[in-house]
Amino acid sequence: MNKPLLPGATLGVLGGGQLGRMMALAARRMGYRIIVLDPSASCPTGQVADGVVVGALDDDDAALELASQVDVVTLDTEHVPYSILERIEQTTPVRPGSAVLRTIQDRLTQKQFLDKLGLPQAKWAPASEDLTALAATVADLGGHAILKARHAGYDGKGQVRLDSASDLEAARGRIRHASAVVEEVVPFVREISVILARAVDGDIKIYPIAENVHHRHILHTTRAPAPMTGDGRTRAETIACTIARALDHVGVMAVELFELADGRLLVNEIAPRTHNSGHYTYGAAATSQFEQHVRAIAGLPLGDTRALSGAVMLNLIGDLWAKGPPPWQHVMAHPEARLHLYGKAAPAPGRKMGHVLFLDDDTDRALASAEAVLAALTP
Ligand code: AMP
Repeated sequence: MNKPLLPGATLGVLGGGQLGRMMALAARRMGYRIIVLDPSASCPTGQVADGVVVGALDDDDAALELASQVDVVTLDTEHVPYSILERIEQTTPVRPGSAVLRTIQDRLTQKQFLDKLGLPQAKWAPASEDLTALAATVADLGGHAILKARHAGYDGKGQVRLDSASDLEAARGRIRHASAVVEEVVPFVREISVILARAVDGDIKIYPIAENVHHRHILHTTRAPAPMTGDGRTRAETIACTIARALDHVGVMAVELFELADGRLLVNEIAPRTHNSGHYTYGAAATSQFEQHVRAIAGLPLGDTRALSGAVMLNLIGDLWAKGPPPWQHVMAHPEARLHLYGKAAPAPGRKMGHVLFLDDDTDRALASAEAVLAALTP
């Protein structure tokens, strides 16, 4: 199917979280219809979509019902079983396709894929059920390691630090070692991410690189553009483009990287979708990552990725709701700040509820504003 899907066409999304919601807002502005599959009709995407198919993301029948109503299917999360995408592909285009998910959604196959491409990543090994063998692996990795579940991990979920023999024993109850990998603890000086989009015809457009700070394994702030040397930027972009081409990816993709003290870059994770560290593009770039994803999956030319302003994004985590809705007037007191809330009914500790975007070419000043606003919102 090489004909582009023009406005008026219907886009289907598997998963109704905030990424689907922001894509739906962009798509509807452009004149597309959106239908979402989610277990809840009032999910963040459902609130702004033209229709909702209520069902679980691993329910083949529900996914095929969604596919029957749309012109193309895309994803809000990479944790949809790839076998469901294979079934949908028999009737409806899926972008990105099932093969991308098959490689990405299992940390083991993702790491093997990166090794095969010769791309740099943290030293890793499959986790052994046998504690003596596992202890030997941790020793090989420098005595400190992280056990990561192969499937369905995000924001540090499904991860356990292994620093001592007692950690190995304790981790047993939390993650099944047979379905996990172990990774060295990387002494990174900072984390960055490359957000790019790849079109159906293979064209790639790259956004200014983002610099990310995590708290408790959850993204806290993103600054863009990240202060980078030209050489560092080129190396990061080359890694991300190599991955996108090797996967034959279509749509927006994020590659998270660790930067070491000597400037080397290691791939941490690949997300074959729009990404939290790309939220700054929604307000600060000529084309947001959400519009860009719509263009890519619709088979249209990609938009300009130029930043119109420097920006800092501050994530709003459910903990801020501990004593009721936060006092938003403190955000509005900053004229350069933009509030985004995702319409989630139940705030929970660690849950991403929204973000604030600070538009300021002086990104040090924007970071200071972000921390000041966070302090004012904290109960
Ligand atoms: P992940 O879900 O794997 O992206 O991990 C979330 C965050 O945990 C990362 O952004 C890092 O801040 C931290 N992290 C993950 N893996 C490692 C590692 N091998 N070494 C040091 N920190 C890590």
